[in-house]
Amino acid sequence: MFRFFEEAKRKAILVSFNSMRRLGKTPAPKTVVWECTLACNMQCVHCGAYSNKKFKELSTEKMFFLLDELSSYGVERFAVTGGEPLLRKDTLDILARAKKIGFSTGLSTNGFFVSDENARKIADSVDSVQVSIDGIGRTHDLLRRKSGSFIKAANALRVLKKHNCKQVCMTSIISPLNLDELNGLYDLARQNADLWRIGTVMPIGRASKNNELILSREQLTKLLKFIAETPSDFLVLLGENLGYLGKLDSLVHKRDFFFCGAGILSCCIGIDGKVRGCPELPSTSEFIEGDLAKDSFADIWENGFRDYRNEAFSKIPDDCISCSDLDLCRGGCQVMRLRNLHCTKKRLGLE
Ligand code: SF4
Ligand code: SF4
Repeated sequence: MFRFFEEAKRKAILVSFNSMRRLGKTPAPKTVVWECTLACNMQCVHCGAYSNKKFKELSTEKMFFLLDELSSYGVERFAVTGGEPLLRKDTLDILARAKKIGFSTGLSTNGFFVSDENARKIADSVDSVQVSIDGIGRTHDLLRRKSGSFIKAANALRVLKKHNCKQVCMTSIISPLNLDELNGLYDLARQNADLWRIGTVMPIGRASKNNELILSREQLTKLLKFIAETPSDFLVLLGENLGYLGKLDSLVHKRDFFFCGAGILSCCIGIDGKVRGCPELPSTSEFIEGDLAKDSFADIWENGFRDYRNEAFSKIPDDCISCSDLDLCRGGCQVMRLRNLHCTKKRLGLE
């Protein structure tokens, strides 16, 4: 019975989306994520981007124009990611404008530039701030290749709470290099944030060259067991890139369920104005659905993303076609597919 409801929830999202499309009313994405810069003051070993200052970025004026376009199209949430978004001088002005127009707003930051001085403005303009912390003290500094970064990030959590930011989320990428610090990270998040979101390394960008960052079967089992056993009075979420977890799924995803919303509920505007399913998907022709320099957002959303919306699963990996969990999983995370890491059930030996 439980499984029936799980399948029904996922199917309902896709079926209602496609029914509306057939009636000529493509539902707007709930969330648009803007990759505002690839510049970064850190050099994290697990970074999914190659942070680089050479790319041309969308201007403030273009973003103000786009915010109006997204708002009138019906987008509800506007979130900013990077690189490090606070390296752009206009990021908070753009978020303030988004908030004023009526978006629910989000910001992902490494916390280095959050201070007592700007925390008030951040709290006023951003509904949910994600601060990345990957280890306690020296571990964090080593993974981020930036000394002093742990102190700054932990302080960012505190000053954002002090200034009553609506939601402060600590985010951590777990790899074999920090797996032993789960307890310390949990305590830090619990004391200083409203929730903790855990992800694992994506095989893209700088991290694509670091095989030692991928968790082994035993390590992945340890991580999922840890999450499953956390008390229910503090929210611990697992990022979606691990996909469907087989019989562990309901234990780990206690308050949500795996569903990749790319191309259905969300999309990403890249630094150059090209639109793709999510920030983690590489900005290569295979994943680009349109270019805001040539087309409106509505045109791109309504005419692109065909493979994401296919109820017949035409683009899923061959090994998924006969899988009994296909309706629940839909082939896992597309980014993880790039290195054949998409089947967490297989990685855990749960087939
Ligand atoms: S085989 Fe494919 S559809 Fe089945 S659980 Fe693994 S990734 Fe998901
Ligand atoms: S492609 Fe992967 S990382 Fe991107 S939204 Fe889907 S599950 Fe998440």
